Amino acid sequence: MRAGYIENHGSVENIKIGDVDNPRIGNLDVIIKTEFAALNRLDLFVVQGWSGLNLKMPHVLGSDGSGIITEIGPDVITDLHVGDRVLINPGIGCGQCSQCLSGRQNFCSKFSILGENKNGTYAEYVKVPSRNVLKIPDSYPFDKAAAAPLTFLTAWRMLVSQAQIKSGEYVLIQGGSGGVSTAAIQIANYFNATTIVTTSSDEKTAKAKEMGADHVINYNQIPNYAKVVFKELTKKKGIDLVVDSVGTVTFNTSLKMLRPGGRLVTCGATTGPKAELDIRSIFWKQLKIFGSTMSNYQEFHDVMKLVLNGKFSPAVDKVFKLEELQDAERYLGESNHFGKVLIQI
Ligand SMILES: [Zn+2]
Repeated sequence: MRAGYIENHGSVENIKIGDVDNPRIGNLDVIIKTEFAALNRLDLFVVQGWSGLNLKMPHVLGSDGSGIITEIGPDVITDLHVGDRVLINPGIGCGQCSQCLSGRQNFCSKFSILGENKNGTYAEYVKVPSRNVLKIPDSYPFDKAAAAPLTFLTAWRMLVSQAQIKSGEYVLIQGGSGGVSTAAIQIANYFNATTIVTTSSDEKTAKAKEMGADHVINYNQIPNYAKVVFKELTKKKGIDLVVDSVGTVTFNTSLKMLRPGGRLVTCGATTGPKAELDIRSIFWKQLKIFGSTMSNYQEFHDVMKLVLNGKFSPAVDKVFKLEELQDAERYLGESNHFGKVLIQI
């Protein structure tokens, strides 16, 4: 089958398009003929590699996807049928350990992500456990279905389960143009929060407003935006909850903007993983810092229900063909996109 894969770690130039073996179905798996896949920054990290990541090569990239079931494993007991239109939950627990059996799949010691340590969705066919697919209505388009899962399940767990967002709060989302951030804007609005988004250009400012952000700050125009947030936007109250997956560049400013007792939630560090902190700023203001990664299956179903019934709509920036995967990954790396970058398989 045709696929986008790597044989060695390195740069985006290492991504190849060519033929690889079709996936072999396991007893509890389904095989999906992929229609659309969506890029995530995780792709770029996987291409680079990190110590401890030992992939079996060739490794097919891609975490998000949608398509049609073509095969169902013999031991699958669900209402799934060949021909069903589905989207994929990219977070895969082992299904057998105490964490998985108690519904905490993202704490499973064998937890894996499609495209990270399992062959992913940039391929004509992808194999996943049957419990990782969700049927989509006939009227729901495959492109949006591929754009939603990873970012919405991540943002939902961050804001709802971990940081416990409440109605009326001031929520500030750092770097509001990525997939997780555009999902976070919509989720914060759903909970009637006042949303403040930081971003890097006038074009992205306009799009973040379209997405429902109440206030958008272009940090290239207002480098000292923490003051504006404190004095003008929150009327000297401070932010209740900061969503920060930007990392090194923003982390200290994020902590500074929080009100006493405020919370910060992080799921990533796109500008780098290290920041020098003044620990006093944490205990003086009695801040809470939450880490979050992926979601459990319940959270996935809770947020996808809201996606599929139209309450949330994933932002789609641009669609590339599978043959253009290198260009698509380069485009993602340049960070000029707003929302998801898709691959039509
Ligand atoms: Zn497990």
